[in-house]
Amino acid sequence: MQDTQKIAILKKLITFASVNDNEAAVAAYIKSLFAGLPHVTCETVAYAPRRDNLVITIGNTGPLLGFSGHMDVVAPGKESDWSTPPFQPVIKTGRLYGRGAADMKSGLAALVVALLELAEDSTQLNGRIRLLATVGEETGEYGAAQLTAAGYADHLAGLLIAEPTDNMQEIVYTARGVIDYRVTSNGKAAHSARPEDGVNAIDNLLTFYRLAKQKLAAFDQTDPILGKNTHSITKITGGEQVNSVPSYAELMGNIRTIPQYPNQVFFAALEQIVAALNQQPGYDLTLSYSFPEEAIPGDPHSNLVQLAQQVYQKHWDHPAKVAGELGANDGAEFLQARGDFDSIVIGPGANVSHQSNEYVVLETYLKACAFYKDFATTFFSTQQ
Ligand SMILES: [Zn+2]
Repeated sequence: MQDTQKIAILKKLITFASVNDNEAAVAAYIKSLFAGLPHVTCETVAYAPRRDNLVITIGNTGPLLGFSGHMDVVAPGKESDWSTPPFQPVIKTGRLYGRGAADMKSGLAALVVALLELAEDSTQLNGRIRLLATVGEETGEYGAAQLTAAGYADHLAGLLIAEPTDNMQEIVYTARGVIDYRVTSNGKAAHSARPEDGVNAIDNLLTFYRLAKQKLAAFDQTDPILGKNTHSITKITGGEQVNSVPSYAELMGNIRTIPQYPNQVFFAALEQIVAALNQQPGYDLTLSYSFPEEAIPGDPHSNLVQLAQQVYQKHWDHPAKVAGELGANDGAEFLQARGDFDSIVIGPGANVSHQSNEYVVLETYLKACAFYKDFATTFFSTQQ
């Protein structure tokens, strides 16, 4: 495939404003690129109206290698912060700018290019490759959860995710998990001149706040790559007016976990605090979670990491940095599938995810296309 065509695919992907929605348009476009190619199966898996996951499998027999990328992007924020409109890709001095240029339509486009080139001659493959293109990664990895529950990631021989890793300079094998939680506090309104007639929902919530900060800080082991767990209270609201005892308050917290602590440890700690407080008069707290993800321990010496490193050095004249990821990714869901396999993350985007004027270096994007293709053929040659 010509470079101009590879770039055209990436530009087209960026034009879809798939901000936590509209992934179906991205999926339909990618699917159209594979029309008429032999030994290709395309399946769309609907998550919600306008929101389709896409699964494309190339080849008929042999070990199954997973390639994955998400089709959603985060909101562009204020358009005035952008030098060019976020959904109209622009090339300037070797960089392509647009929402998703880094995170992660460049990675997704490079996987698609590699797959298209491999599909043109799939008899040479000695295995099968499956593209798992997901919805909603940025808001909870629920597309990946849906594909995993439906069995699409079962018995993979390995998984490569094309999330940005600093211009393809890193091979990421381990990642923090995430727990988003919410605590609501119900009290009883009263005139603030007679607070003893009410129950102050804010006071009660702040008692939880202090205890949670204290208790979670005790889980202080350090992972050599990922560092410590983090715990931030990120949102707090409550009260009705200045002269009333508040009847309601709530907060949200975000915990980033390391492999040394299964998420269950944090669930238990938070639930214990809430249960103990609810024993006390006036307390009425409830705790809920949204889309928690386990940390990915990974192995820096896995066959998959070594293979990626070997292929990497053919395309770059130095080794990649083997690293960890402080955020969570779809891998946390796919690794819950049946079977035992490793995953790595390596992708062309620059370290500008979720920022305005997000970009990818075009040279890195084109090298990523070649790397993914070479990675797949080398992977199957080692599976014989
Ligand atoms: Zn991403």
